[in-house]
Amino acid sequence: GDETAVPAQTPGAATTDTPPGEPLVVLEGVNKYFGNLHVLQDIDLTVTRGEVVVVIGPSGSGKSTLCRAINRLEPIDSGTITIDGQVMPEEGAALAKLRADVGMVFQQFNLFAHKTILENVTLGPTKVKGVKSDKAKRQCMELLERVGVANQSDKYPAQLSGGQQQRVAIARALAMQPKVMLFDEPTSALDPEMINEVLDVMTGLAREGMTMIVVTHEMGFARRAAHRVVFMDFGQIVEESTPEEFFTNPRSSRAQDFLSKLL
Ligand code: ADP
Ligand code: MG
Repeated sequence: GDETAVPAQTPGAATTDTPPGEPLVVLEGVNKYFGNLHVLQDIDLTVTRGEVVVVIGPSGSGKSTLCRAINRLEPIDSGTITIDGQVMPEEGAALAKLRADVGMVFQQFNLFAHKTILENVTLGPTKVKGVKSDKAKRQCMELLERVGVANQSDKYPAQLSGGQQQRVAIARALAMQPKVMLFDEPTSALDPEMINEVLDVMTGLAREGMTMIVVTHEMGFARRAAHRVVFMDFGQIVEESTPEEFFTNPRSSRAQDFLSKLL
């Protein structure tokens, strides 16, 4: 036949017109208060397409709030958040649509206990995106394959290890074909021997060009996979640099102090 060779669509590939290296997620003057606590203080942050940004900082510095603000799980008090050229609205159908562009993986895997692994992953594409069941199953099996748990697809979450469940959670997020993936301490709840299997999946995604914002204490991952490290303290971005610079020559005393405590 004279079929044109079409490259297989990478499952979970971002569908965006933003070229690599152009701004994909832009926060400008973002402020957020919890009562008197100024938890996000004038945050400016630009993440370009294909970039992997690791967010590091002490407990309570606002890292989770930042992630939650980016997909509007948490309303902000001022500033703008732009995803792929579109300002995140406060609410409504437009918000739901834009939120689907942002995949999120939490410390707790939050899988539906009474649904199988495959059902957990197909739920979003079928219910939110209207993908036909057969097609969704096929695509989601590919994603489960990719994260190494395809042979568990008929099981229930409780039958899987924590590391396997977190890889399912990553597949579930990818199934929505997000433009950016947010990870909030994805390995913090895992037994040590399971941390690497999850970090390996994340490293693979990074290598394939997924835009990622990753909150983690895994400094090895940051050194290996991050293009940029953002150091937060007391609701502020204190320092932004390459992992190399950050780990060998942190500029701020707060970052120096933080790193010295990790040793
Ligand atoms: P991190 O993820 O860096 O540990 P968080 O973003 O979770 O930090 O929290 C930042 C600060 O905001 C902390 O002091 C925390 O106690 C506070 N905080 C977080 N969520 C809420 C909330 N829903 N209500 C009030 N305070 C909160
Ligand atoms: Mg947190």
